[in-house]
Amino acid sequence: MKFEFTQFYSSNASVLKYLAKFTFLNNHFLILFFELMLFNSFPIQYNEPLFRPPSEAESLILQVTYGCSWNKCAFCEMYSSKSFKIRNEEEIIKDINSTAHAYQGIRKIFLADGNPMILATKKILPILYAIKNTFPKVRRVSTYALPRDILSKSLEELKTLREAGLNLIYIGIESGDDELLLKINKGETYNSTVDGLFKAKEAGIKLSVIIINGLGGTEYSDQHAINSAKILNEIQPEFASALVLSFPFGTEHFKKRFNGNFIPMNIIDLFKEMKTFISYSDLKSTIFRSNHASNYLVLSGILSRDKQQFIDQINNAINNPETAGLREEWQRGL
Ligand code: SF4
Repeated sequence: MKFEFTQFYSSNASVLKYLAKFTFLNNHFLILFFELMLFNSFPIQYNEPLFRPPSEAESLILQVTYGCSWNKCAFCEMYSSKSFKIRNEEEIIKDINSTAHAYQGIRKIFLADGNPMILATKKILPILYAIKNTFPKVRRVSTYALPRDILSKSLEELKTLREAGLNLIYIGIESGDDELLLKINKGETYNSTVDGLFKAKEAGIKLSVIIINGLGGTEYSDQHAINSAKILNEIQPEFASALVLSFPFGTEHFKKRFNGNFIPMNIIDLFKEMKTFISYSDLKSTIFRSNHASNYLVLSGILSRDKQQFIDQINNAINNPETAGLREEWQRGL
């Protein structure tokens, strides 16, 4: 038996509360899970809402910052209810120590919220050292990062962070198309993204990148798909994923934030865009997934090995949406 919490974009406070508290649970923690349910005694008090990538479902989440220092991307409402704050070191170390008493078996830790890499290296290192000393079984420490946060650090600093345990970063590239990046106010370009990610790669840090299906609507769909494939081909990340643009505050709200003419895509348009993206991809060994709560069609495999299979799956979804095993709206958990 295994608990899975894939609904991490949910706005339901109670779901988020339990997601945050039990996100790293697996079979070994089953009894503790029920104890915690009963006594509500989880040692970390999270500042909600709390988010993590789907692949961090079994990780302990440790908040290093609250919110995102940028907080201006047109499509993103993740931290719009929070003011950005860097937590003080003592609080974070306290969370580490209090959790360690109960959960020595933790193997993966995700540093939240938006972009802990904005912290100076000398502020991140004590946290990584504390994790290393307190959780001897931890094999992976990961975090979200912006390309400019990576670029603000020297190669030597990045190597030091990797040696201290930071071995994976998640980057919301969103698109490889400069025109669209401007329209969504990402504050990054194709080149800044490539430069930042190459630097992390050179330091030995693994990369997991995210693009957003439907981000530019019908008007920018082709250039979005083609240039997103192009940037991934250049970076050759270890992991890549696609999620589907969603509108937590409604389409009109997004349109006001989008610096251009946005025409939303229907489900078939979304599949066609994914097909263009996959067709243009030329990845050697990237693990690719579209398993986020927002996706209608779940793809999972390795590019390029599974490229034709993905295209076949997408063609099937386009031609036979009723029988293609798509997620229903209610299953998307948004
Ligand atoms: S940088 Fe990331 S977390 Fe911050 S607003 Fe943009 S998408 Fe959201």
